[in-house]
Amino acid sequence: MSTSVIGVAGAGTMGAGIAQLACLGGHPALLWDPNAEALEAGSRRLRNDLARGVERGRWSASEAEAASGLLEPAATLDQLGGCAIVIEAAPEDLALKRALFAELERSCGPNAVLATNTSSIPVGEIAAEAKLAQRICGMHFFNPPALMKLVEVVAGGRTGEPALAAVTELATDMGRTPIRCTDSPGFIVNRCNRPYALESLRMLEAGIATHAEIDGVMRDEGGYRMGPFELMDLIGIDVNLQVARSFYRQRAEPRWQPSPISERMVAEGRLGRKSGEGFYAYEDGKQVKVAPASLNANRRRAILERIVAQLVNEASFAAEEGVAEPSDIDAAMKLGLNHPRGPFEWAEEIGAKRIEAVLDALHDGTDERYRPAERLRQLARSAR
Ligand code: NAD
Repeated sequence: MSTSVIGVAGAGTMGAGIAQLACLGGHPALLWDPNAEALEAGSRRLRNDLARGVERGRWSASEAEAASGLLEPAATLDQLGGCAIVIEAAPEDLALKRALFAELERSCGPNAVLATNTSSIPVGEIAAEAKLAQRICGMHFFNPPALMKLVEVVAGGRTGEPALAAVTELATDMGRTPIRCTDSPGFIVNRCNRPYALESLRMLEAGIATHAEIDGVMRDEGGYRMGPFELMDLIGIDVNLQVARSFYRQRAEPRWQPSPISERMVAEGRLGRKSGEGFYAYEDGKQVKVAPASLNANRRRAILERIVAQLVNEASFAAEEGVAEPSDIDAAMKLGLNHPRGPFEWAEEIGAKRIEAVLDALHDGTDERYRPAERLRQLARSAR
């Protein structure tokens, strides 16, 4: 493990968590935010989280103390000039990020690696105006960084191998699992998880089952911690719709078309848990219980297979496009989202031939949303 100094630009939810991981990994970390109050709040949160981690047995008191001693709040961006790696965790805005990277290029030495924690902006777009684009890459952490083990290491079209190697090593020092992927919409996890929400919404729209029935199936038969509708309520229907729109803007894949149900709910102000009503109603922040589902086993199986088939299909398209290897996609979905199985493990469990048959029936020769990926057809052929 090297002990190079790490800079973090942006001390919000993600930045403070990322700085904490750097310190726990033995790296001195300089945390900067243009908003002095945000910097103070982020530093305080980081130290409180370190103390809470001791109470919960995540690390020892001496490890927390050592980590706390490695944190230095920085009053100016220029102070990050001597860092070996700077991770940007500023708001999700292309112009803001480009301007920040231009400033970082001015402040930092030519060998410094500059990484972005963006979830949805292509790394190549952030680096488009950079002088040394080979040192710019993605380092995509998951929320909360201290608990989620995955870091997607994103190679932009012009990113060089030394930058990728440096952030891969840093992620390992931080106790995370780095998984490499290409610079494509949503990288691995956010893309491969799209069908969890979208296919559930389509079934709801088609009157196949209620939201509570679909949630029950995915929890009980699928082994997911939360059903798709509970999850959308938690994340926010508006946030989920924004993500859906962003994907569809980047590439108008019929599979990625946003749901009219989400559009309607946002227009009506039903935003989920935070507004007191989403798919479920909430009283005092608690979900009002819905009567348990009474679907028979065949219908439950059909719901599970339909959502899983689309998860497998999206992952197959991603693998086919070279976003990441199937084994890495499986690992990323489990580490980044706590999925009980990766998509290719589902294909193994249910059978690729069965998944292909489910999709073929839905595709019915014309519906592009269900056209099986060639990679999935290959899997099905080799399973014969
Ligand atoms: P946040 O709003 O909690 O924090 C952003 C911080 O950036 C704020 O403290 C703000 O003061 C600061 N800031 C504003 N302008 C800045 C500038 N020019 N330079 C540096 N800092 C600036 O946001 P967040 O949730 O921590 O998200 C940060 C990034 O991480 C975004 O790109 C987001 O897409 C990504 N991300 C978020 C999550 C998540 O679940 N929150 C997960 C993965 C990735």
